[in-house]
Amino acid sequence: MSKVVVVGGIDMDITISVERHPRPGEEISGWDLTFLPGGKGANQAVAAARAGAEVRMIGHVGHDPFGDQLITFLKGESVDVTGVERVSERATGMAFITIDRNGENTIVYDGTLLPSLSFGNPELIDPGDVLVSQFEVPVRTVVEFFTEGRRKGTLNIFNAAPPHPVGPDLMRLIDVLIVNEFELAALTGRPSVDPADRAQVERALELLSPPDGKAVIVTLGAHGAVVADEHGTSWIQARPVRAVDTTGAGDAFVGALSAALAMGRPLHEAARYANVSASIAVTRKGGGPAMPLREEVERVY
Ligand code: ADP
Repeated sequence: MSKVVVVGGIDMDITISVERHPRPGEEISGWDLTFLPGGKGANQAVAAARAGAEVRMIGHVGHDPFGDQLITFLKGESVDVTGVERVSERATGMAFITIDRNGENTIVYDGTLLPSLSFGNPELIDPGDVLVSQFEVPVRTVVEFFTEGRRKGTLNIFNAAPPHPVGPDLMRLIDVLIVNEFELAALTGRPSVDPADRAQVERALELLSPPDGKAVIVTLGAHGAVVADEHGTSWIQARPVRAVDTTGAGDAFVGALSAALAMGRPLHEAARYANVSASIAVTRKGGGPAMPLREEVERVY
């Protein structure tokens, strides 16, 4: 079985529930304050590990109590942390999240630790691995990581989140590009893409025109997901669930997809599996700790 190697952010999610999101300048009170492990990279690594894959994490945390807690958490999830460095010059990353009654969230992320993250150790990747990264990491780091992967015949999965243009240098190294409707709009220069409007999503997908041999997956929240590759376009309906926190939905999808691909499932099937995994994650609070176990997914898959 191939392993999943994730380069990305590892942070503490400081989450509070609110009746509705505050307007600028407004103070409101909330409840259920929690400190839960997060960061897109760490969430994706945990989602892949809980889905049954062997996973290695590459990232940075500070020399502080949050850093200790996050490393302990990752180890407890059977994620290999030999690629996680402790840095002294900055604090461990933090995300400040408010969740409203409908489960919609807003996130302010302190990403000051990540610009220093580089990929310097080729030995962390083995031939045939599934590599995963996102825009939490500097583009040059993703390019170094995926270039080393290319030399070793890896499958490179890129989640273009938070939204940022994917230049040609990066695009040529990606095998599977994953975006949500906001990122799809940003990448195709549109003000928005309505996830409920299939024709609009398909037109935006055409504009994205990934080069031959590449696949694009658009996750559409409660509208499911769509997979487009040389075999065609397939729509996957979301499982009807009661969402309580959509914080880690995309990460659950990316992690479960990576694990399913590492375990040899074909892309369209892996995406259906990821859709089920993400639907379970949104019924629970938090990023990493909300990720479902393989048995939970297989019970309803
Ligand atoms: P992101 O976290 O990037 O905004 P999405 O909101 O697109 O990601 O959600 C990712 C995946 O999570 C969706 O493709 C779907 O599989 C699942 N999902 C998200 N919201 C819901 C929901 N309300 N009901 C069921 N599944 C959901």
